[in-house]
Amino acid sequence: MKIAMIGTGYVGLVSGVCFSDFGHDVVCVDKDCGKIERLMRGEVPIYEPGLDVLMAKNVAAGRLSFTGDLAAAVDGAEAVFIAVGTPTRRGDGHADLSYVMAAAEEIAAALTGYAVVVTKSTVPVGTNRQVRQVIKKARPEAEFDVASNPEFLREGAAIDDFMRPDRVVVGVSSDRAKEVMGEIYRPLFLREFPILYTDLETAEMIKYAANAFLATKITFINEIARLCEKVGADVKEVARGMGLDGRIGNKFLHAGPGYGGSCFPKDTQALARMGQDHAVPMQITETVIKVNDEVKRRMIDKIVDLCDGSVNGKTITVLGVTFKPNTDDMRDAPSLTIVPALIGAGAKVRAVDPQGLREAQQMLPGVHWMDDAYKAVQKADCVVLLTEWNEFRALDLKKLAKKMTTPRMADLRNIYSARDAKKAGFEGYVSVGR
Ligand code: NAD
Repeated sequence: MKIAMIGTGYVGLVSGVCFSDFGHDVVCVDKDCGKIERLMRGEVPIYEPGLDVLMAKNVAAGRLSFTGDLAAAVDGAEAVFIAVGTPTRRGDGHADLSYVMAAAEEIAAALTGYAVVVTKSTVPVGTNRQVRQVIKKARPEAEFDVASNPEFLREGAAIDDFMRPDRVVVGVSSDRAKEVMGEIYRPLFLREFPILYTDLETAEMIKYAANAFLATKITFINEIARLCEKVGADVKEVARGMGLDGRIGNKFLHAGPGYGGSCFPKDTQALARMGQDHAVPMQITETVIKVNDEVKRRMIDKIVDLCDGSVNGKTITVLGVTFKPNTDDMRDAPSLTIVPALIGAGAKVRAVDPQGLREAQQMLPGVHWMDDAYKAVQKADCVVLLTEWNEFRALDLKKLAKKMTTPRMADLRNIYSARDAKKAGFEGYVSVGR
């Protein structure tokens, strides 16, 4: 089957590469010429473990190619996926659909025979019908269907998530589209990963409901963490005790500096906005957004308190700035709230991140970037563990403490313990909810 993938970001590129690995003939398109040039040279423009190898394999097999020419990619394709960004629209929290609609217009002009136009981007309920209207208006005679196929992959584990999904959700409104979608995902279906067929609106809603639920779970444990600190309970043990209950499950119960990333912040906002538009306020989601902002700000207070009430003139080393490990994605990372606040309060900030540097350098001006945690803590007053990259999970705390002027640690991912820190020579240690 010939597939065109419009947008080669974290979702489009991974999806395109994985579909080609299923055996389909995939052409990936992007309007960013620099990205396409790099891809054509065999370079992967993002950091995603395993993607380079899988991409090279399928390019070599002749099943995967890249172009800036959308019309050429769409010509003869039986399925055209839209995987462009849907960021928050400035000012009102709505998902910005301008990239999706622009892609739909371009696809309309390029359709040559029957094709299913599949939206993989996360889009508010009703968008697929809008995409259909846009294409119909531009090309009334075109033969096509639309389908909604929201993506659930996680950055950092994207290939495994795509190849071994908990489920694939497909919203369709015709049997013909269902057949095409079934054919595309047949390799997964044969391995018994469930495919859930729904109508368009239900598929669109599933994605927002799932993301808002996960954001709620994280925020819930972060709120419990705050109370744990007041009453002397240990949130790690609380989460373990909760998570062993099969009805609750142990995932997304790690207390930390608040959720960030390219999805939860914008998707919770878009859901809240959708609720307001339909006079059905999403009160839980609205509260989650508010509490999460407070959680991030609370981390700043924690660091300041640890530094005896002021960070002015102090040297603070931040370990990890990406929103989570194993990605270079900086979108809405907690570091973007915490680091500028520290600099604003007069701190000198040094930071280390294994993959985030390229993006982070522009987003976090005033930071002194270093490549080694031990060098970065030399004569520092405080070390902040912000992203739990593997290399920060087994630090030699003694060595770290020895190099610092005043050995203090704000462990915002609860990797270490107050006991270990004290034993290693840290005079101050704080974590979250313990
Ligand atoms: P991204 O910003 O990394 O990539 C989007 C790409 O689309 C960019 O390379 C951009 O140049 C390209 N593009 C935009 N308009 C185009 C056009 N008209 N023609 C060709 N290319 C065009 O975005 P992403 O993180 O991959 O997210 C894409 C969508 O998937 C979003 O709706 C997001 O919510 C959703 N999603 C993301 C994730 C994730 O973890 N990143 C997970 C699930 C769902």
